Amino acid sequence: MRHEHLISAKQLSRGDIEAVLDRAAEFAADPGAHSDSHAETLLGLLFFEPSTRTKMSFDAAMKRLGGDTIDMGSVDSSSVKKGESLADTVRVIEGYADALVLRHPSEGAAKLASEFVDVPVVNAGDGAGHHPTQTLLDLYTIREHAGLDDLTIGIMGDLKYGRTVHSLAHALTNFDADQRFVSPESLRLPQGVRYDLRNAGAEVHEHTALEEVLDELDVLYVTRIQRERFPDENEYRSVAGEYRIDAATLESANPELSVMHPLPRVDEITPEVDAMEHATYFEQAHSGVPVRMALLDYML
Ligand code: ASP
Repeated sequence: MRHEHLISAKQLSRGDIEAVLDRAAEFAADPGAHSDSHAETLLGLLFFEPSTRTKMSFDAAMKRLGGDTIDMGSVDSSSVKKGESLADTVRVIEGYADALVLRHPSEGAAKLASEFVDVPVVNAGDGAGHHPTQTLLDLYTIREHAGLDDLTIGIMGDLKYGRTVHSLAHALTNFDADQRFVSPESLRLPQGVRYDLRNAGAEVHEHTALEEVLDELDVLYVTRIQRERFPDENEYRSVAGEYRIDAATLESANPELSVMHPLPRVDEITPEVDAMEHATYFEQAHSGVPVRMALLDYML
């Protein structure tokens, strides 16, 4: 990969994606065999928002490569609480680490941080903006189960605030993928994202009911309604629980359908689906380690 920083999925070409996924497959085959690849490399973890998978899988990936991580910890226990600016925080931590992984509630935060430091910055989620490393592991799972070309994928739920959706939809424009966007009217893809997708040559098919598309899909990518991004709790309540996938929903699906979810799920997919062949979301989460190993290996 040619990029110093990874801020948006728009930076990723088909070649970049394939290189990372191929390398990730090598790491997945034998994750313990690379422990001297990046000895003495230190990765700085700066998470200004909650995270389980992204943070822990970056931590695991760096350690699997023989390096180590340093963690700013929670916002409440850091100098952010004293009013330190993001620019100052990253300028300090670049002196401690060889690369920074940043999650922040503000869209554009990773881009801003990258302008203040010389070490690589990886965007691990910036508000409702982008989450490019989630996309790489999503693509890894899609490639395993359905292939990335000649793909029909339904992307459902909170398309307005869901940063994983914005990144995935952009990345899929590199492939022959028919994307069907399913959401309540109020949570449609933002206009800017629709514009960018069309500019990249994609058709933006929008639906409000999953039944309109379900039987055509190879992959159904379900997302959580991003409660923390709603300016008004009543607005959240008006759409919460609107889409729920259970065993009955999947009766009319293609038997090969993969149901994916970036997790955490709240109630979008009922636990009974977990035991079905369709469910690939835990496997998807597990691929976060080899995919992030591959990304770090390229970037460092
Ligand atoms: N974990 C994903 C993210 O950080 C998805 C979600 O939170 O719903 O964007």
